[in-house]
Amino acid sequence: MFQTTTELRSAFLAYFGNNGHQVVDSSSLVPHNDPTLLFTNAGMNQFKEAFLGLENRGYSRATTSQRCVRAGGKHNDLDNVGYTARHHTFFEMLGNFSFGDYFKEEAISYAWNFLTQTLKLPTEKLCVTIYDTDDEAFEIWNKKIGVAAENIIRIGDNKGAPYASDNFWQMGDTGPCGPCSEIFYDHGEHIWGGRPGTPEEDGDRFIEIWNIVFMQYNRQADGEMKPLPKPSVDTGMGIERIAAIMQGVHSNYEIDIFQALIKKAAEIIGVEDLENKSLRVIADHIRSCSFLIADGVMPSNEGRGYVLRRIIRRAVRHGNKLGATDTFFFKLLPTLIEVMGDAGKSLVEAKAIIEKSLKAEEEQFARTLERGLGILDAALNELDTNVLDGETAFKLYDTYGFPVDLTADVCRERDITVDEAGFEAAMAEQRSRAQAAGNFGTDYNTGLKIEGETEFCGYTELNGEGSVSAIYVGGESVETLAAGQ
Ligand code: ATP
Ligand code: MG
Ligand code: MG
Ligand code: MG
Repeated sequence: MFQTTTELRSAFLAYFGNNGHQVVDSSSLVPHNDPTLLFTNAGMNQFKEAFLGLENRGYSRATTSQRCVRAGGKHNDLDNVGYTARHHTFFEMLGNFSFGDYFKEEAISYAWNFLTQTLKLPTEKLCVTIYDTDDEAFEIWNKKIGVAAENIIRIGDNKGAPYASDNFWQMGDTGPCGPCSEIFYDHGEHIWGGRPGTPEEDGDRFIEIWNIVFMQYNRQADGEMKPLPKPSVDTGMGIERIAAIMQGVHSNYEIDIFQALIKKAAEIIGVEDLENKSLRVIADHIRSCSFLIADGVMPSNEGRGYVLRRIIRRAVRHGNKLGATDTFFFKLLPTLIEVMGDAGKSLVEAKAIIEKSLKAEEEQFARTLERGLGILDAALNELDTNVLDGETAFKLYDTYGFPVDLTADVCRERDITVDEAGFEAAMAEQRSRAQAAGNFGTDYNTGLKIEGETEFCGYTELNGEGSVSAIYVGGESVETLAAGQ
């Protein structure tokens, strides 16, 4: 039986390896040479050029377990963490890829056979979705695989927005894309939620486990869909979601990896209730933060580094909420290294720098956190609406280092939203005041941009105190993140 996350990773790679796929290492979380992308968000990213026919990799089938971060950009799950059973900022995506080799029929058969024969999942627990107009996929599922018609759900475009469908996958606003077919697992009627395509689909009863994308187009900046040189396949299955099923639990946070991290965090901070939501958030965030640093991102006030800083600060705030009296975050790293097995190699190599930078960041933020939280609490107590004004959110950002999404995270626990437009306006005002004063002020705008072509050149010792930094060779800024992403 393949049960532990480590066993599942090996089983997946072996299955596709035995079916003629080249087993390829995960690429970095910092996309190489792709200014359109904030972080690697899917297994296909490293193969983008191969799909476009611009690169010949010497093989036409590949399989990977790809580390991914979805905490900004087109795919952003930061706000889901702590609220759903299935979303993380960092996760591993198991995938198989065909570059102009096999297409729909084989892709569907491989996935189905892996789930129902190798992993022996009961077929009655599974249902699938297809893109509305994809009759070919319907026929394959129905006739070749034998899935009953009522368990094949057609999902169309959202009103008036062509290709804006859960069953039309795109990595970003441009690039390879195509219709897809997804496999869902029913965790049982005791859990709230409905089948895909129903109003209750956002519940966590039917959980999407595997997305099979039929890569057919290269989306241009003006929206034009150019056919790819050869139809290809890209699939992705979150390892934590399939591990939850194999381990007989509902939430990803109940699987081996997360339980180890949650227990360790509870022990360090001194919490008894292992179900506490903040422990889940911390267990999630230590993964994204550690892997991002291992891949060369450092906390900073701009670009990728600012996204990292925001995640660290969120984790520190949740630790504070649990009553942490000392630094705790970096102390989770040894446990993380232990549970990640082979997938944690990059952490082992960068252990010292990860610990050092997480600790420094936590200590720095801890100095203003308490006061900021006090001010926020007072403001929330005085509120007679359920919207916090942008001025206060800006003051917390400006004076206490509260990224606006952190303020929103605190507010959300009390069913309050932040006036983000007001926040933006306060920030713009501050910027123009600074400009009027001769540009001596801080350019707050830089905090919200990501670098352009970013190339990681390695770590450099900066000074005798051992503070270490990553060097980037950056192009111009290409993407502005909306505040609160
Ligand atoms: P969802 O609808 O649940 O948000 P998705 O449709 O955004 O998932 P895809 O872009 O299709 O996900 O990615 C392929 C697979 O990766 C998903 O089927 C799922 O198993 C996994 N996955 C996606 N996002 C996450 C996440 N934030 N955390 C963990 N696993 C994820
Ligand atoms: Mg999603
Ligand atoms: Mg989905
Ligand atoms: Mg999907």
